Order: sequence, then C-alpha cells, then structure tokens
Amino acid sequence: MAYQSINPYSNEVLKTYPDATDAELEQALAAGDKLYHQWRNDPISTRAPYLKKVADLLRAEKQELATIMTKEMGKLLSEAEGEVDLCASIVDYYADHAVDLLKPVPLKTDAGNAYYAKQATGVIFAVEPWNFPLYQIVRVFAPNFMVGNPMILKHASNTPGSADAFDKLVQKAGAPAGSFKNLFVSYDQVAKAIADPRVTGVALTGSERGGSSVAKVAGENLKKSTMELGGNDAFIVLDDADFDLVKKVSPQARLYNAGQVCTSSKRFIVTAKYYDEFLENLKAGFAAVKPGDPLDKETTLAPLSSQRAKEKLVGQVKKAVAAGAKVYYGNEPIDLPGQFFPPTILTDVTKDNPIYNEEMFGPVAVVYKVENDAEAIALANDSSYGLGGSVFSKDPRHAAYVAEQIETGMSFVNSGWLSLPELPFGGVKNSGYGRELSDLGLNAFVNEHLVINATDK
Ligand code: NAP
Repeated sequence: MAYQSINPYSNEVLKTYPDATDAELEQALAAGDKLYHQWRNDPISTRAPYLKKVADLLRAEKQELATIMTKEMGKLLSEAEGEVDLCASIVDYYADHAVDLLKPVPLKTDAGNAYYAKQATGVIFAVEPWNFPLYQIVRVFAPNFMVGNPMILKHASNTPGSADAFDKLVQKAGAPAGSFKNLFVSYDQVAKAIADPRVTGVALTGSERGGSSVAKVAGENLKKSTMELGGNDAFIVLDDADFDLVKKVSPQARLYNAGQVCTSSKRFIVTAKYYDEFLENLKAGFAAVKPGDPLDKETTLAPLSSQRAKEKLVGQVKKAVAAGAKVYYGNEPIDLPGQFFPPTILTDVTKDNPIYNEEMFGPVAVVYKVENDAEAIALANDSSYGLGGSVFSKDPRHAAYVAEQIETGMSFVNSGWLSLPELPFGGVKNSGYGRELSDLGLNAFVNEHLVINATDK
C-alpha cells in the first residue's frame, strides 16, 4: 500500500512517499544492532540529554508538528497541539526517571547475594496507527531509548508525514545513528524484519486484525510482543453519581479526536434513574458541535481520518440500524466535502445486533439503560474487548468496587479516559496484552537478568 498523506478535510493528496527498499531496511537493522552493542557499555544516564533535546524540539516545533498531523489525519489543531505537549512530557518523564527505574533490583534469598539487572535486549520493531500520529511513536521510542533498545518504526500508511517529521526531529536532536529509524515498509518487510535475529521485540498499536497478523509473526519467531488494540469501553453511570459531572464529561469522552480513540467511551451504561436526562444532555452536547476545517480554531468537529474510515463507520451504523438499533440523534450527512461523520446516538442495541460487540471508531455513542450495579457490570463485561472504562459514583468505595469488577485494563473513576506518562496504558482480552508508559512500559523489552553469587551470602 502506498504511503500517502491525504487531507481528509479537503481530500487533497498532499504527498506520496517512496517505499523503503530492502537495502534501507538492512541498513536500519545494522545501524540499530551496532548501537545496541555500543549502548550496552554506556551508562543509562548518558542517553538522557538526547531525550531532553527531543522534548525541547517537540515544544519548539509544536505548531509545525501539530499542523502536519491535522493536515494528514484531520484532528482538530488544538488537539494536535495537546498531543505534542503530551509527547514532550512523556519524553521528559523517561529522561528524568529511567535511571532510577532501571536500577538493579535486589532479591531476598538464602542462596547468595542476588539481584536482577534490567538490561537492553536489541532492536525493537514498532508498528503504529494514525489516530495519535506522534504520541503512538513516543510511547515506544522514549522508554526504549533510555533502556538502550534502538527502534525501527513502521507507521500507518496515511500518516507518513508525521513519521517523517519525528524521524527528522530525532536526528536534529543529535541522537546517535541507529537509535530511531522510520521506514515506509510493506507488510512483507515488517515480517522479514521481525524474523531477523537483530530484532528482539515487537510493539504494535492498532486493530485486532493488524495485531493478530503481527503477533503471529512475532510468535513464530519467538519474539516478545506488546499489543495495544481496540476497545469498546463502558462509561458507567451509577445511582449515586455526581450527575452534573457526568453531564459535563460525557460528550467529550466520546467526541475527542472525532471519536477515534481506542479508549473513547463507546458504550454508555446508565442507571434508569438518569437514563432519560443522560440522553437529552448527550444529544445537546453532540448537537452543539461545529464541523469545519480542523485548522480553524472555531471548529469543534473534525473529519474522520480517511474516506476508508468514514465508509467503515457508515456501514457499521447502517448494519446496527438494520438489526433494530434506534437512532436517537444524528446519522444525518454533513454537507461538507471532507470525511465528516455526524455525532450520533444509538439506543436499543440488543445482544443479537452485530454491532453489540464491535468497536465503532468515530463519534457514535451507544446508550444502554440498566436497573442496578450488577446489570451494569454484566453488560460492561459482555464484550470481547477490555481496554479502559469509566465509573461515576460520589462514593469512592462504591466506585472502586464496581471498577474492579470490570474485566479491563484501565478504569477511570469520575472522569473520562486519560493518558499520562506515569500511568500504565493497555488492556486485556482482545484489547491486547502488555503495557506502555509508566515503569511497566519501560520494562516491556528489558532482560530481567538474574545475577546470584552463591559464595556471597
Ligand atoms: P490497523 O489497520 O491495525 O493499523 C495499525 C498499524 O498496523 C498500521 O501501521 C498498519 O499499516 C499496520 N498493519 C496492519 N496490518 C499489518 C500487517 N499484517 N503487517 C504489518 N503491519 C500491519 O489499525 P487501524 O484500524 O488503522 O487503527 C485503529 C485501531 O487502533 C483501533 O482499533 C484502535 O482502537 C486501535 N488503537 C489502540 C490503541 C491502544 O493503545 N490500545 C491506541 C490507538 C489505537 P497500514 O496503515 O499500512 O495498513
């Protein structure tokens, strides 16, 4: 597939990028492997200044970077700017904390003096999606840079400009050759790279389809992998919720990034007490958006990322309605040439509806009414996904009890989804395995190397 930037607001083809050659892939593998062996002998602290420079450049070039993202995948400029800020804070976090977090861990045993060292393993191959074009790269790049694992990136075919810009930024920061390389590779070249002995880990963020293909290749080659896949997160409103807070948070929990977030709240599970009022409020929030050019600060609804994304969502809503779902609000075309999908609310989605267990990647909310906590928990868990989820209750113990009953990787109590450098990010079930960010993300591809001296007790 061609790597191409197409503006989803104007449908203009901005740039087509040449495919990577096998020789370029070999060069990246060789440079990464050489650096890995060199980095093994360098103190971890020597790498922090490069990351500090990367963070400085991210902040200094925020406008340019944000504009590239907005132009090639359509997100609102303000959201793109926020993404660059978040990237800078992730890079800073690892520059500031990795030395401490990577210290050897002493072990209690009668067998001798024991500890495990956290050591680099080799080149990490990352396959990333378009919805957060820079943040997804940085989540893998920054921790592995500090660990001493060079990274090769295969980005989504519709966000090559963002990948290219980050590659150039890392070079500008003076980072050692081989530490990061973006390549416009094919699926076959990805498989070839994963099979290469110099690659020791594979990180993918994307769909179940992409994840299972890449995880299969990783498994066949006995390479460790982390999979950050889709979600169908529940937003649970309990009887004792602070309903003013719910009203404030719920529309954006679905609409941010035009609804194209793995951890967007996608299923709103609302106690009967608040159900009608919840629907009215969500509708008012959805009706208030202003579609338009995402570069324009007045715009509050961005187009979807591509024609393909829009066609998929149109098909899913059609399928849902054909199977009995009711359109409570939306689903009327937006009269603009870009890939817009209107904020839409569906109700009456029954278990036999094909959409019941599908992720809809756009501004479509499904709202369910429940009678009690047990029903809310059962409905939330009746999903093949388990990425995030929100629980609203004024009683912290009640909220924590319900949150812990949900089979999911992240629970946000009294808030919509969020992501911060120090908090682990990842899911269970078909939402994938492994964690990014925090100390868990830092440890994803380290060798926990046991050293025990049996004569030193
Ligand atoms: P996708 O089709 O799986 O694409 C993601 C990446 O995988 C792209 O770079 C894609 O390349 C590549 N890819 C797909 N199949 C491949 C294969 N067989 N071999 C090598 N590379 C392959 O995902 P998407 O639909 O664009 O992205 C949206 C999905 O990502 C949603 O499901 C969303 O929930 C999920 N997501 C999850 C997280 C998380 O942290 N859990 C975060 C963000 C997004 P091409 O572009 O060239 O096809």
